[in-house]
Amino acid sequence: MDILIFAEQRASKVTDAVLGLLAKGGELSKEFDGKLHAALLGDAVGSAASMLFEHGAAVVHVVEHPKLRLFQSDLYASALYEIVRRAKPGLVLFAATLLGKDLAPRLAAKLKTGLVSHCVDLRVEFDENGRKRLVEVIPGFGGLLFAKNTILRMPQIVTMTPGVLGRRRQEKGRKGELVRLSLEDLGLAGFESRAETLEVVETKAVEASIENANVVVVGGYGVGDAERFKLVEELAEALGGVVGATRPLIDAGLAPKERMVGQSGKTIRPKLYVGVGVSGAMQHVVGILNSKVILAINKDENAPIFEVCDVGIVGHAEEVVPRLLEELKRRKASK
Ligand SMILES: Cc1cc2nc3c(=O)[nH]c(=O)nc-3n(C[C@H](O)[C@H](O)[C@H](O)COP(=O)(O)OP(=O)(O)OC[C@H]3O[C@@H](n4cnc5c(N)ncnc54)[C@H](O)[C@@H]3O)c2cc1C
Repeated sequence: MDILIFAEQRASKVTDAVLGLLAKGGELSKEFDGKLHAALLGDAVGSAASMLFEHGAAVVHVVEHPKLRLFQSDLYASALYEIVRRAKPGLVLFAATLLGKDLAPRLAAKLKTGLVSHCVDLRVEFDENGRKRLVEVIPGFGGLLFAKNTILRMPQIVTMTPGVLGRRRQEKGRKGELVRLSLEDLGLAGFESRAETLEVVETKAVEASIENANVVVVGGYGVGDAERFKLVEELAEALGGVVGATRPLIDAGLAPKERMVGQSGKTIRPKLYVGVGVSGAMQHVVGILNSKVILAINKDENAPIFEVCDVGIVGHAEEVVPRLLEELKRRKASK
């Protein structure tokens, strides 16, 4: 079974989420004895193809046209549909970004096939007849459990939550098959969009991105006032990391919503996660499980976060965090 990745880009560069999809797609295409394809749509984006080959794509389908410079839902969906008709993959993977979440259902509807959204894992299992099948894992029922799904129609369409997949090592100079297609080739030269994207206005990333940070210090409702939340910010700074927050803290206006970690926020995979005053609700925990080391500070020894952490400190944040800060300062000074 061949697998096709939709290669979303930002400023002509494929996104980190796409590199994760390539890594997963590579593993799965081996399991199913297929090839890994990628579809690259845009204007003057061909140079991004080398990145896709170097991260495992065997075939890259490139469609370049000024009409594709900005994302146009219906034209992109139609172009992808034509690529899928030609490449005949058994699985099409998208990152569950705003763009992926718009495109994937459109493509599924055109292909009259099934779609599973917001997957956190893709597994190969065996059906009752001993045949391999693909299983999509999604957090279900408000994050209280993980549900396993399988799509019965082909191709299967899946969106993966960004941040849950690691990338494979880049093989510099790795090449593959480049398939250049024009809108004319796809029968879309005269395509008239029903709505047109006129401009994309990027919001300025004021702080470092939380998804790629090595250290994330998350403040929970246990530090739910400005004074105690400051301790979280100080700890993040001392550890060279960034600040994240649970939903109640976002609701309280102590952190912007881009900082929310969990099912409705970001999935993170730092080397070190520190949760301060975080209870460990499932909806939060699904976003931190890929962290290398989880350190929890909570005054309640029965808090669920202690069941998933590697290191736990039972104590009040306002006592524990200043002591940690002191120790970090002492170590820095003695270097
Ligand atoms: C559909 C749905 C989606 C959701 N998505 C998300 C999501 O993406 N992300 C998210 O975070 N939540 C999400 N939630 C909310 C989630 O269910 C929890 O309510 C939330 O994660 C709890 O946040 P918390 O741990 O900060 O607060 P609480 O559960 O109130 O926990 C506070 C903790 O702080 C401890 N504490 C109190 N005082 C101190 C102190 N002085 N020092 C140390 N510890 C202290 C307490 O013992 C407690 O364990 C979602 C909920 C739903 C229904």
